[in-house]
Amino acid sequence: MDGQSRMSDGTKQTVLIVEDNALNMRLFSDLLEASGYDTLKCNDGAKAVELALQHQPNLIVMDIQLPEVSGLDITRWLKDDERTQEIPVLAVTAFAMRTDELLVREAGCEGYLSKPIQIRSFLSTVDSLARDKA
Ligand code: MN
Repeated sequence: MDGQSRMSDGTKQTVLIVEDNALNMRLFSDLLEASGYDTLKCNDGAKAVELALQHQPNLIVMDIQLPEVSGLDITRWLKDDERTQEIPVLAVTAFAMRTDELLVREAGCEGYLSKPIQIRSFLSTVDSLARDKA
């Protein structure tokens, strides 16, 4: 099932998942790992920034509705820091309103999906956005 999940040197790509809902976290990580990605998981903003800096993932899947800091604010922090600004961010949100996509794009996210996600479009979007650093 490997799609674009490997870098050109053959190593697995890593996706950081920022999600506070345990069921969604499980769904995203199961799908990504079954597709050949390594995953990092966290549910809060400070930790997300720390993990992004430390691990330089190939992609971040970012829930927008988080308990303390919104995923949009986390994305703005990441995009304001030259050490993390090149990491693509795929926003996932339960709000399916059209204005949301504008907010998401303005915050700097490269992609946007609304929940409930469709498995095929989730994986194809991940594959197309994940950055091959090798
Ligand atoms: Mn949430």
